[in-house]
Amino acid sequence: MVGKGRKKLISKGGVRVDGRKPGDLRPIKIKVGLLERADGSAYVELGKNKILAAVYGPREVYPRHLSLHSRALIRCRYHMAPFSVEERKSPAPSRREVELSTVIRDALEPVIFTEFYPRTVIDIFIEVLQADGGTRGTGIIAASLALADAGIPMRDLVAACAAGKVDGQLVLDLNDVEDKEGEADLPVAYAPQMEAVTLLQMDGTLTKDEFERALKLAVDGCKQIHALLKEALRGRYLAVGDVVEAGVKKGKGGES
Ligand code: ADP
Repeated sequence: MVGKGRKKLISKGGVRVDGRKPGDLRPIKIKVGLLERADGSAYVELGKNKILAAVYGPREVYPRHLSLHSRALIRCRYHMAPFSVEERKSPAPSRREVELSTVIRDALEPVIFTEFYPRTVIDIFIEVLQADGGTRGTGIIAASLALADAGIPMRDLVAACAAGKVDGQLVLDLNDVEDKEGEADLPVAYAPQMEAVTLLQMDGTLTKDEFERALKLAVDGCKQIHALLKEALRGRYLAVGDVVEAGVKKGKGGES
């Protein structure tokens, strides 16, 4: 809550602590397919968040009794590295990490054609290397790209970001201090082609009108991020295409 005497998080000129305007996203950096040993991987930086996702599968389920006869089982582990936050975090999974693992899996499952791979498992690992507010959304973005990189058929890419209320104003994509000291935080995951909200949580208090406006702001943020995700994947496949083409040319040269 905004306490008396607390440093303001938005200046009179409407500038936030990190220099953004209320409707701005943090700068985003994306790298797809960086881990050799995973079937798919992605690394995403959103502001100071640094998150790596790796995907394995579809592969055989162990223990076998967990397998589902009509679709793939999706498992997800969201984990924060001990050095990801200001004070060393225990490496053991906290209640928060267990809950986030579940909500992230539920946010991604609707876009995966799980029915194509009965009796298999798709494992998603999300490692938060550095946290600065909105790690569940950044984790969803990275996992979505890693799933696509693994070649898993998907209905859409899930984008995610939060909106919230800080110093009485609605803002997009809250950083750590805004998340902790602001009045409300509304993380959203959204699949634009399906027009589906796959994650919606809220911490704090908003009026009904503020909630509706914050949801729209978050969905618009997700649409912006979705365009960047598509671009990153396109870049990845064009790069793979270049390597294949170079290999083909080399092969031809060898024959002549
Ligand atoms: P999200 O990261 O999705 O916003 P939370 O709202 O639970 O999830 O956390 C907000 C922020 O609080 C995190 O991004 C991180 O910067 C910080 N945080 C989370 N867990 C811890 C922790 N154990 N110690 C210190 N900071 C934490």
